[in-house]
Amino acid sequence: MADKTTQPTEAVTDPVCGMNIEPAKAAAHVLHDGRDFYFCSTGCRDKFGANPAQYIAAGKSGGPLAWLRRLFTGGCCGDKH
Ligand SMILES: [Zn+2]
Repeated sequence: MADKTTQPTEAVTDPVCGMNIEPAKAAAHVLHDGRDFYFCSTGCRDKFGANPAQYIAAGKSGGPLAWLRRLFTGGCCGDKH
């Protein structure tokens, strides 16, 4: 119980596509500005890496924009799921 080296098991949100994923199953992980971000694919990670501030700002405002962003980016991760 006191072991803090294990990764969190609760679902986190991919900041790029808005998908809920488990950290242990994430395809990619980035430590940015002291926070952990998990991604469903390396494609999402690359998008985040290209412009992290954009996705962080969008994430702070809540979920409603996630689906809208998906429209503009042409779907999640190029159908690589
Ligand atoms: Zn994704």
